[in-house]
Amino acid sequence: MSCDEKLLRRDLLRLMGCSAVGIAVAVGTGRALAEVPSRSARKLRTVMIDPGHGGLDPGAIGVSGTYEKSVTLATAHEVARLLEATGRFSVRLTRDTDVFVPLAERVERAQAAAADLFMSIHADANPNHSIRGASVYTLSEQASDAEAEDLAARENRADTVAGVDLSHHEPIVSEILYDLARRQTNNMSLRFAQNLVTELGHQVVLMNHTHRAAGFVVLKAPDVPSALVELGCLSNWSEERELRQPLYQSKLAASLVRSVNDYFERS
Ligand SMILES: [Zn+2]
Repeated sequence: MSCDEKLLRRDLLRLMGCSAVGIAVAVGTGRALAEVPSRSARKLRTVMIDPGHGGLDPGAIGVSGTYEKSVTLATAHEVARLLEATGRFSVRLTRDTDVFVPLAERVERAQAAAADLFMSIHADANPNHSIRGASVYTLSEQASDAEAEDLAARENRADTVAGVDLSHHEPIVSEILYDLARRQTNNMSLRFAQNLVTELGHQVVLMNHTHRAAGFVVLKAPDVPSALVELGCLSNWSEERELRQPLYQSKLAASLVRSVNDYFERS
């Protein structure tokens, strides 16, 4: 996709009132957002890394008690460090510490930063403890399968843990134009997800049907290509042990960074 096409996509959304400000109003934050920086003025690509859960929301809890929120934050920090080391990216995190951030606010932060890419990092727990492996998800209102739908429901519950539920809010937009922009963003997200599957597959065990789709709230920005990575299953004894290890987290992070690099190199 050319730079012009990307500008067109975001300009289209801005004209429609579906810009960052539009979304902020729609999700009811009532908070003014920082002005969106002009794309042409920036050389670095902005990547928003989203460590899942945090604060009073631990996310999934592993068989020996490992919190998902800790694995996601540690891995996100490593991804950020490696991306920054390339000198090609401006890297932002939706949370930098062990704090709770509502899902819609994570989306809002990516839009306010005019992010070129959004990557949400999670680690799942499955009722079947023998299941292990990494998996990758993109947004779809129609879930690809029942398991993906259940996973999206679990991840979307993060907000209710803290007593807020913004997940039902949708941007108020003209539907036809919204769909057009959304479709372009979806295509870019699919390309990124394919990179993630390829790169993770070189390094770690993958779950069957590695790439799936469902209605994740955190992937709903119409103007920011995005994907959600489940690093593995904390419900599996050996994978939980690996996910706790900094060396394993570095291996995962390196795969994610290669995926981001590939994505922009082919843009
Ligand atoms: Zn999660």
